[in-house]
Amino acid sequence: MKYRRLGKTELMVSEVGFGGEWLERHPEEHSVQLIRHAHEAGINIIDCWMADPKSRDIIGKAIADCRGEWYVQGHIGSTWQNGQYVRTRDMKYVRPAFEDLLQRIGGGYIDLGMIHYVDSQKDWDNCMNSEYIRYVHELHQKGVIRHIGLSTHNPRIARQAAESGFIEMILFSINPAFDMKPASENIDTLFENYDQPLSGIDPERAALYQLCEEKDVGITVMKGFFGGALLDEKKSPFGAAFTVPQLLHYSLTRPAVCSVLCGYDTPEQVDTAVSYETASDAERDYASVIASAPLHAYSGLCTYCGHCQPCPVHIDIAMVNKFYDLAASQETVSESVREHYLALETKASSCIGCRSCESRCPFGVQIADRMKKAAQLFEE
Ligand code: SF4
Ligand code: SF4
Repeated sequence: MKYRRLGKTELMVSEVGFGGEWLERHPEEHSVQLIRHAHEAGINIIDCWMADPKSRDIIGKAIADCRGEWYVQGHIGSTWQNGQYVRTRDMKYVRPAFEDLLQRIGGGYIDLGMIHYVDSQKDWDNCMNSEYIRYVHELHQKGVIRHIGLSTHNPRIARQAAESGFIEMILFSINPAFDMKPASENIDTLFENYDQPLSGIDPERAALYQLCEEKDVGITVMKGFFGGALLDEKKSPFGAAFTVPQLLHYSLTRPAVCSVLCGYDTPEQVDTAVSYETASDAERDYASVIASAPLHAYSGLCTYCGHCQPCPVHIDIAMVNKFYDLAASQETVSESVREHYLALETKASSCIGCRSCESRCPFGVQIADRMKKAAQLFEE
């Protein structure tokens, strides 16, 4: 398992993570074993947005013997009322629900205290100007939550979180289909028109990932498989099915992304996700699926897939493109982006313009021209 630094939290989290939301579907012992199996496979980050006592107890029991080896994303504002999950900022419910989480997870702390599920501007404004956010800060100051995070499906809210200065990481919904949709305050209606052709990565989303990279705000990913729809040709908005390693690779090649939190029912599903770590480039290759999908238009945009390699002079084309896009999204090139670029073993100025890469790019990116522009931007 590879581990990535989760932005300014400095936590080293496994690329493949654990999204806890299906745990309550199974007998307790089954789910406890599932988490232990994931731990043995090297997974060290788990999300607990769930408010139900059963899910929380399962996680607490599964990690009790190795609490210090897990990073728990615990949500503040996910409450259990009359046997049902309710998202709220009402402190009458928020405080006891978080205390319940703390007690059931164990250890006396939560690694990543998540401002839970903010998708609308109204909710963001409400959260940021209320007792709720004071409570979040109080938990942080006391060390009860070690870091502050936020979960959202809306890139506009995520942007405000990244710019806030105090939110250190974001749990965000990423997959190739969501990435082609404009921001929405309602995730449930994002794909109401399945038959509409998808039209390239949404600029606001691309800019968000770049901003997070620049601000050192790490991203963990939810909905990486779009609830399984992207694994099924009939349900996929592309009209084509991806594999688990391809979808993991898609998310993990977005700037600032550190871990994809997958839901599991069985140990075999854990093994399939973890097989990403040893998968070949061909097995991870999501680009060929997108490029040959009946419903898409991704022309001219770099997805950082790496499909264009090898380059005869050993330029890491995807990385150069990533830094170029990151720099081009800013008014002036930041020193940190320039430093990252200059640390590359081979710079864009080494490009000999052979264009052999362009015939391999499934999205028709004018790579040689971009290498010239990158060299001008970073090296002159
Ligand atoms: S230039 Fe094309 S093939 Fe290369 S990383 Fe970008 S999208 Fe992928
Ligand atoms: S055009 Fe430049 S970047 Fe592309 S393969 Fe040739 S040398 Fe490498």
